[in-house]
Amino acid sequence: MSFNIPKAKKILKKYLDDNRFEHTLGVMYTAACLAMKYGEDIEKAQVAGLLHDCAKCIPDQKKIKLCVKNKISVTEIEQKNPFLLHAKVGAYIAEEKYGVTDQEILDAIACHTTGKPNMTRLEKIIYIADYIEPMRTKAPNLEEVRKLAFEDLDRTLFKILSDTLNYLKRAPKNLDPMTLQTYEYYKDKIME
Ligand code: FE
Ligand code: FE
Repeated sequence: MSFNIPKAKKILKKYLDDNRFEHTLGVMYTAACLAMKYGEDIEKAQVAGLLHDCAKCIPDQKKIKLCVKNKISVTEIEQKNPFLLHAKVGAYIAEEKYGVTDQEILDAIACHTTGKPNMTRLEKIIYIADYIEPMRTKAPNLEEVRKLAFEDLDRTLFKILSDTLNYLKRAPKNLDPMTLQTYEYYKDKIME
């Protein structure tokens, strides 16, 4: 695969606010490091990391419109919390506007917010990189999770998901049932 990362970066900079752009670079480099550790394709990890939030700064109403227009399914919880849609819409934009043809990359972008059961290695890497990149400061147990990320992907997922569910208890309305499903899946998996 050969993807023009510098060119995509330039375009992205126009569509993201400064903080989001810096976060994006953090995810790209963190994903690259995890790819090195786990033998994943480094370029794929970088491209997925770079583009994972490409739809983040699109206004909510426009995200919903884009879904309707392009026959992207919108669940009830997504309708109520349109920010969740930036993952699916991001995969669509990565393909249409940035010319990504690799389905694995598109899938990793599409599930980066909630995760999903039985993720591919690339999907896990993007999900985790999004959570631990150096600009992140607010999540609990970050130090531990960052260390664990370079030891075991599934246990890291489980830790992130349980911390996330704990956090979302305060705002259960914002909980996508997929996050819960993913949590249950990885709980069973690490208990095996
Ligand atoms: Fe995101
Ligand atoms: Fe992100």
